[in-house]
Amino acid sequence: SEKLDLIVQKIRPFPDFPTAGVVFRDICPLLKDPKALAAVTDLFEEHVRQKHPEVRLIVGLDARGFLFGPLLAQRLGIGFALVRKKGKLPGPTVSVAYSLEYGAAEAEIQEDAVEPGQKVLLIDDLLATGGTLYAACELMKKQQAEVLGCLVVIELKDLKGAERLKSCPVFSLVQY
Ligand code: 5GP
Repeated sequence: SEKLDLIVQKIRPFPDFPTAGVVFRDICPLLKDPKALAAVTDLFEEHVRQKHPEVRLIVGLDARGFLFGPLLAQRLGIGFALVRKKGKLPGPTVSVAYSLEYGAAEAEIQEDAVEPGQKVLLIDDLLATGGTLYAACELMKKQQAEVLGCLVVIELKDLKGAERLKSCPVFSLVQY
């Protein structure tokens, strides 16, 4: 579609970042272009209204999930909650540890951010191995939220992140 073309044109590949052999997909040009950014929100909104009209909360992942999540939540007339890296959120929190390519990390959410039984969608900029979104799903489980699915702008198909998230359908706008 025309909107998708706008988006694809604004994703900039950076070979050998952050390490040799990796092609980093930079979304900064996408944020800089208001038409392309609106197209992202349009396509997410269309998908959610068709497939998940019952959604009650958008949950965004640290850090680039924070760029797209609130825009979508506003369009849908629902709220937005943050999953952050450990130590950033005040008050009572729930956390989950997960492993990265090098080392480990912890994802955290405020205890009262999500209600038991609440229907939520997770959002991030990019799905690679799925480790980050998997950890967020685990957090939602701890909170007894119902995860309807995951939304990402970009999916790196070779890394099979969607398989790792098998219990949770992934919707992506652009695939590499
Ligand atoms: P995963 O946990 O699926 O392996 O990695 C996904 C996470 O790493 C996302 O939070 C995403 O922001 C970040 N990430 C990994 N590679 C890239 C990339 O090439 N471009 C962007 N924009 N983010 C990336």
